[in-house]
Amino acid sequence: MDPKQKIEQLVEQKKDKFIALSRTIWEFAELGYEEYQSSETLCKSLEEEGFAVTKKLAGIPTAFKGVWGSGNPVIGILGEYDALPGLSQKAGCPVKTPLHENGAGHGCGHNLLGAGAMAGAVALKEYLESTKQAGTIIYFGTPAEENLSGKAFMARDGVFDGVDFFYTWHPSSFNRIGAVHMNANISRIYEFKGITAHAGGAPHLGRSALDSCELMGVGANYLREHIIMEARIHYAYLDVGGRAPNVVQDHAAVRYVIRAPYLRQVKDIIKRVDQIAEGAALMSGTTVTYHTESGYSEYIPNNVLAETADKALHEIGGPLWDEQDFALAKDFTEAFNDQSKEKERETIIQRYGRDKLAEKLQNPLDTQIEKYDKNHIIMEFGSTDAGDVGYIAPTVHLNIATEALETPGHSWLKAGQANSSIGLKGMVTAAKVIALSCVKMIEDPDKIKQAKAEFMQKNNGIYDCPVAGVTELPKL
Ligand SMILES: [Zn+2]
Repeated sequence: MDPKQKIEQLVEQKKDKFIALSRTIWEFAELGYEEYQSSETLCKSLEEEGFAVTKKLAGIPTAFKGVWGSGNPVIGILGEYDALPGLSQKAGCPVKTPLHENGAGHGCGHNLLGAGAMAGAVALKEYLESTKQAGTIIYFGTPAEENLSGKAFMARDGVFDGVDFFYTWHPSSFNRIGAVHMNANISRIYEFKGITAHAGGAPHLGRSALDSCELMGVGANYLREHIIMEARIHYAYLDVGGRAPNVVQDHAAVRYVIRAPYLRQVKDIIKRVDQIAEGAALMSGTTVTYHTESGYSEYIPNNVLAETADKALHEIGGPLWDEQDFALAKDFTEAFNDQSKEKERETIIQRYGRDKLAEKLQNPLDTQIEKYDKNHIIMEFGSTDAGDVGYIAPTVHLNIATEALETPGHSWLKAGQANSSIGLKGMVTAAKVIALSCVKMIEDPDKIKQAKAEFMQKNNGIYDCPVAGVTELPKL
């Protein structure tokens, strides 16, 4: 039996277990750093499969790893399991129906990510056992991918050291490895302190911290024109000082997130945002303090790992959809807003050709595999903390279709599909592709050397951690 057939058989044998696991994690829908039940359940599964589990990595209660095997190579497989606030949705339901009003939901499909990556790790373990090959497999349970950069803290504390290469995946509309470049970002909190006063009787005695935040916003707006166009400046108020307009607000705080293709660019922009905060404090007669709370390095795939995964994906093939899957996907696309519908049409034309538009609008699931082309860089403006792992060792995160074409990210539509036949089929495919990619790397040690050489060329092995010096885990 060739490796592809063997891996397929191993994943198929245990797929029901991992489908059930994914559904359980989906139901827990726990937010970043609060994934207590999810991480416990994942640890239990790993132990059942013969992995030696260590919990609370890097001092994070919901970070863990499971190790199996011995000797080289050492293979890392990354799993995520955090949910997003406000995206609760009934499983498989294409009409907005929250399970819990304002509850959290798996609107980024990390239930599929964590369980699917584990199914891949277990199949790989069984493959190595049956072929009597050496190798150490480490499944890393990495919490708080959303906003709170769990992997950056783990990477900073050396959790990923000693691993030869990493594979992971992310639920998507597409089947592709993709030369995807994802942005670095840093999240920073600015806290202003002023002087309270009677806003009617003695406003001249007050110094408003809320005014400082507003002035900072004006400054940031002017800055936006004079930074590289790929950069983004986002903000959210954390403290508006109070609800009473007749009291001068003596405290206020705002969070800024700066994104750009490279961390060094983010750092340059942050220096200017800091100056704007200082200027705002000067103008309003307040004081300001600021600190970084979380951060992400840019994600750049390792080409050797990506080309290997591309071969594995082409051998395995994308998920095999049936009529019910297509019909369900169509129902979900009908709930898209006009902009998402337009994006879906554009993508179909670009990916399948105009002559297939009508047919694909009826059957809006990806049925092809995009060929990996290292020269065709796809700029994605989001971020992933897999980028930080990529500065510890060669890393690739691949995409497998788990939802209707162009399902909007971080939406109830995504949460609904993450516990449907569509999402779960994609997850099983992802497990096979991850396991087969690892087998291809293990069985060709030269590839591991090449992947490492490429890794060293990119950054000389230096990791400039975006959360260096951050002493507390961030909270949303
Ligand atoms: Zn995600």
